[in-house]
Amino acid sequence: MYKPQLVIDLCKLEDNARVEKEELAQHGVEVMAVNKVFDGCVETAKAVFDGGINVIAESRVYNLKKIRDIGCTTCLLRSPCLSEIPEVVRYADISLNSEEKVILALAEEAKRQQKTHAILLMVDMGDLREGVWFEKEDEICRLITLIDQTPSLTLYGLGTNYNCYGTVMPTVKNSEDFVALAKRVQEKTGVKIERLSAGNCTSYHLIDKGVWNPGLNHLRIGGLHEFGIEYVDMKYLDQYHHSQKPVDKAVSDMYVLRAEIIELSAKPTVPVGELGVDAFLQKKEFEDRGTRKRALLAFGRQDVPVENCTPCDDQVSVLGQTSDHTIVDIEDCGHQYALGDYIEFELDYTGLLAACQTNGVEKVFVSKK
Ligand SMILES: *Cc1c(COP(=O)(O)O)cnc(C)c1O
Repeated sequence: MYKPQLVIDLCKLEDNARVEKEELAQHGVEVMAVNKVFDGCVETAKAVFDGGINVIAESRVYNLKKIRDIGCTTCLLRSPCLSEIPEVVRYADISLNSEEKVILALAEEAKRQQKTHAILLMVDMGDLREGVWFEKEDEICRLITLIDQTPSLTLYGLGTNYNCYGTVMPTVKNSEDFVALAKRVQEKTGVKIERLSAGNCTSYHLIDKGVWNPGLNHLRIGGLHEFGIEYVDMKYLDQYHHSQKPVDKAVSDMYVLRAEIIELSAKPTVPVGELGVDAFLQKKEFEDRGTRKRALLAFGRQDVPVENCTPCDDQVSVLGQTSDHTIVDIEDCGHQYALGDYIEFELDYTGLLAACQTNGVEKVFVSKK
């Protein structure tokens, strides 16, 4: 049965993971690989694991259940729901936490399952998503002491996150503040904090610029090895595999969406008749470019939005999209496309996320023989 294909290059992903691990290690930084964009895909988790990153993180517990059989240590990135504590303890070795009630429930359950659960205690340094607010230092100390004194728990480290809800950038200043806070907490509690987990792939720009704070020794990263892009300045990095496309669209040729041509014809560029709105209630304007050759493709907005795709063939241009169709202009193409051929697109992070989430796209893997 036909589905558009998402071709994932596992060799490049594995290479990138290896490069990332080694590069960060040179700065004293241990990395946890985030697999959430692939939505629990076992093959991508395995590629990154084979690249040498042992801890794999997902946002959802059901995805950890899928990937843990590859032999990795698992981490739950989104703080646990009170309603899923038994599954969290069963499938996650580590979880990110900020609520005392949840931490106590994890402790109880870990005891019941005769396990030790590791807690990465999150501090909110200003981005306003998860974490104990940075000014509540007494509460941070209290939770650190609680975790330290609970036999079924261990303290994995103290973490923070940037560039999500609040779009707060990781900077030299907030790195210093986080290191200083951790130092004070360590002195007040007498508990050694093994890891200072400083953020996601956007923190890498500080390493790239040579201003990394040596007090920070841990990152949770997806985007860097997945795209080979430094996301603050949108810079393609030489040492990683990534797209050859211009930087203004942060796509990667490691992820190619292939969709079949279901109609090939020459049609006018302006619709004929009185114009209303489309299925998404949008009014549209059309430039009259005469009659041009175009292809109708068997994928649509409900699979992957076209804003998040870039045609691999530079001479193909996107005309538009409806729920189940994408229309491309192929008038200027050197390549002669035929009915039944594929047209290929590179994807950005959002496009990759959409393609991995939908049941309407089939994953195909490029791997070493
Ligand atoms: C998603 C996420 C990350 C990793 O983000 P990338 O942009 O893929 O590097 C790290 N930490 C937390 C808490 C996250 O939710």
